[in-house]
Amino acid sequence: MGWTRISIAIADITKMRVESIVNAANNTLLGGGGVDGAIHRAAGPGLLEECRNLRGCPTGEAVITGGYNLPAAWVIHTVGPVWRGGGHGEDETLARCYKSCLDLAVSRGLSTIAFPSISTGAYGFPLERAAPIAIREIASFLKREESLKRAIMVCHGKKAFNCYIRALRLQIRLEEKSSPNAPELD
Ligand code: ADP
Repeated sequence: MGWTRISIAIADITKMRVESIVNAANNTLLGGGGVDGAIHRAAGPGLLEECRNLRGCPTGEAVITGGYNLPAAWVIHTVGPVWRGGGHGEDETLARCYKSCLDLAVSRGLSTIAFPSISTGAYGFPLERAAPIAIREIASFLKREESLKRAIMVCHGKKAFNCYIRALRLQIRLEEKSSPNAPELD
């Protein structure tokens, strides 16, 4: 089961003591507002310098840098889709962001990763639609990939937290249906 290694927290991702945190960046990787700005401020100028050398990142893909002054050793930068009404492949691109980050973490031998709610701030992706996509993608990845020990969804407020909890409960129900011997959860 994938969901057993997912945690959901209300926190500031820049404070997370995990091996890697994910940044919801933009294509330039040169910093911005929201979580991106917070990560750059907390990491210090070394992060921007390393990002500059990477020369951008396509939407849906991910790149990795050091964490500099952050408690996390690594930052995995991904670029989420800008919401354009839902008919432009936004769901698939969002799912690809999570998968790209998880693939990169595993390829570097990392065992813990913390995600912000990608695309649901300035990029306007509806939270209620993004949360089940994120949870489904992470859970199915964890099911296949034993080396990743924990993925944490870091929510910036109660509304996001409730949304991700609902999405996790939905995922548990789906996994229980497809695996009748799974442990029961109230
Ligand atoms: P995007 O451009 O991908 O929408 P944003 O940074 O605007 O990225 O928002 C993504 C999510 O990150 C939003 O849900 C926002 O509330 C959340 N967020 C903003 N700051 C932080 C932070 N310090 N820690 C965790 N999540 C954050």
